[in-house]
Amino acid sequence: MRLQLATWPEVDTYLKGSTGIIIPIGSTEQHGPTGFIGTDALTAEAVAVDVGERTGAMVAPTISVGMAQHHLGFAGSMTLRPSTLIAVIRDSLESLSRHGFDRFFFINGHGGNIATVNAAFNEVYAEGSLAPASNRPSLRCVLKNWFLCQSIAKLSEELYGDAEGRHATPSEVALTYHLFPEDGARIAKAPLSPEIAPLGTIYDADSYRRDFPDGRIGSNPGLATAEHGARILEAAVAELAADYQAFCGED
Ligand SMILES: [Zn+2]
Repeated sequence: MRLQLATWPEVDTYLKGSTGIIIPIGSTEQHGPTGFIGTDALTAEAVAVDVGERTGAMVAPTISVGMAQHHLGFAGSMTLRPSTLIAVIRDSLESLSRHGFDRFFFINGHGGNIATVNAAFNEVYAEGSLAPASNRPSLRCVLKNWFLCQSIAKLSEELYGDAEGRHATPSEVALTYHLFPEDGARIAKAPLSPEIAPLGTIYDADSYRRDFPDGRIGSNPGLATAEHGARILEAAVAELAADYQAFCGED
């Protein structure tokens, strides 16, 4: 069930049976000439909504702007500072925990969010640890990066090998082409040169633009197809649905 499409009495009823919730988190940043700026948020949301359908879990609204300062050299990219993203996550969790949610399962679509999301979890835990002991159930948070799922590593190796790369990967681009076939067909035509983008280290926005001029890192998203995207979505959903159930079943 999507929180945004539920009524408050429905949420009340849900909480009597489960205190778990899935929170999709992504980014709004360039993905090379053939990838949507919304790739990381669109993919995280699609995986989360399908995991929610499969497990009966509540799915929160997507946190669509993440920590992407290094992409700001490209038109359309947006970022939150790490400190802002930590505040967004804390306020979101505290709002939900007020109602009784205490198991937070984040499905993330953007590598650049990982350090900040983990820092936010530690802020939330510190709040509880520094307070006097209480009978209130403690919050538990887990971060799952769909693009790092074991099943995805296997599938991307089979489909793309070394052309998977690190940013604007064919896996994530394929997933968005599956979700938005008409827009995908429109953007997929842009030329990619060289075919496989260079690899290297990321620093700030200026160095990124200089070292990776079309925005890709190590990838050839020209290999992405909507058919691959359907398989990638199914693999991520199957693995994360099992992970969600295990997480909510923990003592
Ligand atoms: Zn991405």
